[in-house]
Amino acid sequence: MLPKDETGKIPHSAKSFPCGTWVTRNPSETIELGKALAKRLARGDVVALYGELGSGKTTLVKGLAAGLGAANPDRVRSPTFVLLNLYEGRLPVYHVDLYRVQNVERLHDIAYEEYVSGDGVTVIEWAEKAEQLLPRKAVRVHLKMLGKKSREIRVEFPDKNRNICR
Ligand code: ADP
Ligand code: MG
Repeated sequence: MLPKDETGKIPHSAKSFPCGTWVTRNPSETIELGKALAKRLARGDVVALYGELGSGKTTLVKGLAAGLGAANPDRVRSPTFVLLNLYEGRLPVYHVDLYRVQNVERLHDIAYEEYVSGDGVTVIEWAEKAEQLLPRKAVRVHLKMLGKKSREIRVEFPDKNRNICR
C-alpha cells in the first residue's frame, strides 16, 4: 500500500496514519488498510464508504471487521438484500449496504438510529444514499478503481479534536 503522492507532498506520519490518499495494488493491501483504520475507531463510530461497484468497499470492511476483532471476518459479505450484517467481536460491527435501497426511510426498518448511536462501529456502503442521515462525526472513505487491481482510497476524519488527521 502506497501513499498516493510518493514525493511526500501528503505527509503520512505515524500519528496521521491511515488518513490521506492511498493506492492499494491488490485486495490484501485494501484489507491491511482496513485493519489500520480499525485501530483508529471506537464505540459509536460510523464509517461511510463511497465508490462504484467493485471499487473495494466490502474488501475494506473485511479488514475493518478483522481489525475490530470480529469472530470470523471471512463471513463479511455485502448485505445487499438484507441491508444489515452484524459481526460480533471485541466490538460489534454493523455492516450496512444501501446499494438496492431506493428510499432511505427503509433504514428505520433496521433501527439504524439505534446502532449509529450505540455500542459498536457502523460501516455503510453506498453512503451517498443516506448522506442526510450520517452523523457529522462520520469517517468518510472514498474508493476509486484505477485499474484491474489498483484502487485509490481516500480516508478522511472530520473531527480535528481527535487529532488524527493533520
Ligand atoms: P464493492 O463492495 O465496492 O462492490 P468488493 O470489495 O466487493 O467491492 O469487490 C472488489 C473486487 O475487486 C473484488 O473482486 C476484489 O478481489 C477485486 N480487487 C482487485 N484489486 C483490489 C484492491 N486493490 N482492493 C480491493 N479489491 C480489489
Ligand atoms: Mg460491496
